Amino acid sequence: MPLLPRFRSIAVALTASAALVAAAGEPARPIRERIELRGDSVARRVEGSVLVEAVDGGVLLELADERYELLQPGAIASRSPLDDAAPIETPQELSRRILAELPAGFDVHVTRHYVICFDTSRDYAKWSAALFERLHDAFGNFWTKAGLEISDPPRPLVVVIFADRRAYEAHAARDLGGAADRVVGYYNLLSNRVTTFDLTGTDGLPRPVGRPRGSPAVEIMTSPAAAGLVSTLVHEATHQMAFNCGMHRRLAPVPLWVSEGIATYFETPDLESIRGWRGIGAVNRPRLDHFLATHRPGDIASIVASDDRFRAAEGPLDAYAAAWALTRHLIDTRRREFVEYLRLQAAKPPLGDDSRDRRLSDFETAFGETPAAIEAAVIKAMARLASRPR
Ligand SMILES: [Zn+2]
Repeated sequence: MPLLPRFRSIAVALTASAALVAAAGEPARPIRERIELRGDSVARRVEGSVLVEAVDGGVLLELADERYELLQPGAIASRSPLDDAAPIETPQELSRRILAELPAGFDVHVTRHYVICFDTSRDYAKWSAALFERLHDAFGNFWTKAGLEISDPPRPLVVVIFADRRAYEAHAARDLGGAADRVVGYYNLLSNRVTTFDLTGTDGLPRPVGRPRGSPAVEIMTSPAAAGLVSTLVHEATHQMAFNCGMHRRLAPVPLWVSEGIATYFETPDLESIRGWRGIGAVNRPRLDHFLATHRPGDIASIVASDDRFRAAEGPLDAYAAAWALTRHLIDTRRREFVEYLRLQAAKPPLGDDSRDRRLSDFETAFGETPAAIEAAVIKAMARLASRPR
């Protein structure tokens, strides 16, 4: 079940650099620099574009492959400007570099928009890559038709798939800490990668005697974990697309209700097909049922005003369900205003912080009413969706 790993890891980073957040301002145009860092044991050098510079000397740096690094002022030994353009890695160079960071046994599968790193079978990686490519195209078509300017991600999107859950958890603990065993896949805003594992376990399992192995797609989609697998992959890949096509800006204060609302809008699997996912706009039945069973007055206003409910130990799934319901309702009834609201969010600089009042007034400006006023209509619309034949 997709939880909030990327935000958890970012929250950790941001807490550690409170001064950077408080003083962040955006330079007019990113400047490429070489920065020498002092480390605990070894010094290291990084090159990239300075996205944000704090008055205390802290820096948010974008590396050539679009990873972000938050550099604390104390870690920076020296800085010098570079006048060359950022080097562009070929998918092969990118693959080699990522493979060097992963445990032994990984391989890569390169498609038009993705670099998939896997230690599952190649068939499993190919099935997943086809799903990502379909999502990539459907996502672009949907938002372009809705009137939002979408750009193709400038570099391949990286997805890492582990065959084995334990190896995944050991790797993911770097990003997620103790939550790694509860989070089955995540998109990390700093590394810009999706990491997950073979949820179906279909790949490495010995076959029961007498049962022939079917095609990989059939094996995957007949697994009891198929629905969870497809929604996890599509959910995290939707976040990755949204943060790489100009819809959201990484580390900007994008409200969680909107980023999670969009990911849950897209995540609905198609269990009738061995391809697992077909397109957009299907009713997300688990989220709809959850919303109708748990919503309380004031829920919509509370997720618009703050991200706290998504991060709470208790009931974050209620917040996800409310985010899906609100997003579904706005896309159904106020698509143009919703797109305008996305544009407003995309214009905010990284590492900013919006107050509750600011978030509420942004919403009211875009939609012409308060979230509290819209709540009754959301509940009514969701009840109507639930009464549709399945
Ligand atoms: Zn999510």
